[in-house]
Amino acid sequence: MDEEMPVDVHNAAQLVVTVDFDAEELWLAEDPENARRPGVLSQARYGVQVAVPALLAMFRELDVPATFFVCGGDAERHPHAVDAIAAGGFEIGHHGFSHRSPHTMTAEQEEAEIVDGLTALHRHTDRVAGYRSPSWDFGSSTLGLLQRHGFAYSSNMMDAVHPYRHAEHDLVELPVHWLLDDAPHFWFDTSSWDKTIRSAGEVAAIWREEAAAIWDLGGLVTLTMHPQIIGRPSRLRMLREFLTWARGRSGLALSTAGDLAASLR
Ligand code: ZN
Repeated sequence: MDEEMPVDVHNAAQLVVTVDFDAEELWLAEDPENARRPGVLSQARYGVQVAVPALLAMFRELDVPATFFVCGGDAERHPHAVDAIAAGGFEIGHHGFSHRSPHTMTAEQEEAEIVDGLTALHRHTDRVAGYRSPSWDFGSSTLGLLQRHGFAYSSNMMDAVHPYRHAEHDLVELPVHWLLDDAPHFWFDTSSWDKTIRSAGEVAAIWREEAAAIWDLGGLVTLTMHPQIIGRPSRLRMLREFLTWARGRSGLALSTAGDLAASLR
């Protein structure tokens, strides 16, 4: 793992809204047997068919810039959805080709994932500047591979609340945290029947508490969501209220991840 010391480069309250467009690739990486489970995969279809259009409409209505990190395999499976994201003026970033974690691969396999993902995404956008790995997981070669393939930023690390430049790689980091992700609070599958699904109201309270504290420090909130998770009706309602609340905070800047990273290079 990268042991370089981060260097803070930015001090201003910021909100970056990110959506990890995980469809079938997520479930196939969890278990290849899921290819034969239409019920499991229907959750992915919900994300593509119901949640993505709802999110795009909400972001447009509230004038919220957003970045969608897309698996290359899902882009090939759902080209019209990725076209709709690009046509809406939203940023498209890299989220692997499959949804397998980089630490499970050799450097050669990981590079192939990066190259294949770029090829798939370049059918929809000219520039892919950002990388978010599946599950925010890195291998020992990841930062070097990102630099080699011309990425401008990573949004994967949990070692800061301010954006920073990686000391030994020409990359900006836009830090994340599980607190500000929808999956830890809402994720459910049949391997974990003992897990309680949180209510949207509970998660709204967690997000607001953490976001307000980060902004008081002049830091960055990188909100991270997944269409098939945040796209349930009660959660979309909560998201709308959260974004409206954030929009009302004076001095808060909103941008895509790519625009923020470009301003820091
Ligand atoms: Zn993902």
